[in-house]
Amino acid sequence: MAVFAGFDLGGTGLKCGVVDENGKILHKAQAPTPATAEGFFSLVESLWAGLQKQVGEPIRAAGFGLPGIFDLAGRRILESPHTGGLDGVEIEPALERLLGVPVRADNDANMAAYGEWRHGAGRGVANLILLTVGTGIGAGIIADGRLLRGGRGYAGEAGHMPVRPDGEACACGGRGCLETEASARSIVRRYREATGSGEPITAEEIQARAAAGDASARAAVAESARFLGIGLGILINLFNPEKILLGGGVLGAGDDVLRPAVEEAARRSFKNAYQACRIERAALANEAGIIGAAARAAEPAAGIIPSRGNE
Ligand SMILES: [Zn+2]
Repeated sequence: MAVFAGFDLGGTGLKCGVVDENGKILHKAQAPTPATAEGFFSLVESLWAGLQKQVGEPIRAAGFGLPGIFDLAGRRILESPHTGGLDGVEIEPALERLLGVPVRADNDANMAAYGEWRHGAGRGVANLILLTVGTGIGAGIIADGRLLRGGRGYAGEAGHMPVRPDGEACACGGRGCLETEASARSIVRRYREATGSGEPITAEEIQARAAAGDASARAAVAESARFLGIGLGILINLFNPEKILLGGGVLGAGDDVLRPAVEEAARRSFKNAYQACRIERAALANEAGIIGAAARAAEPAAGIIPSRGNE
């Protein structure tokens, strides 16, 4: 069976794995996120050598999920938040020269959505949205049986839909984005505002306090869940997805966010579109990015001709 490599660059680590055609991870490795472009390329080279050694057969191609937005026309990453030196680098050709195999790169959330679609909880549907609700909110959209790319590859940024026009300033330059109003950070912010406390605390701890009956914690979690539901309602009306998958730490194991978010989505979307959509947990957890990147690498080139936009 042919094997492919998937790489997933995050804020703290570069994770990778060798994945077979059924989406099964055969070997995994991980290293801290490099700060520079040179560091990135030399780390990829050594991780790749390690994977090759472990698997003992040629890896056919590699996929890379990268934070930021991926420019289809230039085969490069833009607005990369963690490894700034990668901005504007034609990363697909550079990685192909380095590794000697075909390389497919994309936004990390697109790769995760692709992984859930091919090998996770989204198998068998033609219209699927994955929202990863953690420190930020990543999103990938499968529409009419293909990954939605838009004109240049920048589509699918559902985390930056404004759901509260006068809300918090967002790193994207907007205000009141789904990411600033429904992420783990939003839960922490609301709890601190309500309690006046500056204590270091995570969203997970606040969710535990909410479950134990802390009123401020419950209110913070409920408000963030409500905004998540507003976002879900917009997505249901726009895309009529058969499934929306929710991943990330905020969804945890309990229903404290999922249930109120789904109830809000029901109030905010057309009844038939809502009823046609199943909202459930993603299946692949932290491995969706690796599995999706490898699955993308396994696909034949799609022959996409990107438009030139307003240049
Ligand atoms: Zn934003």
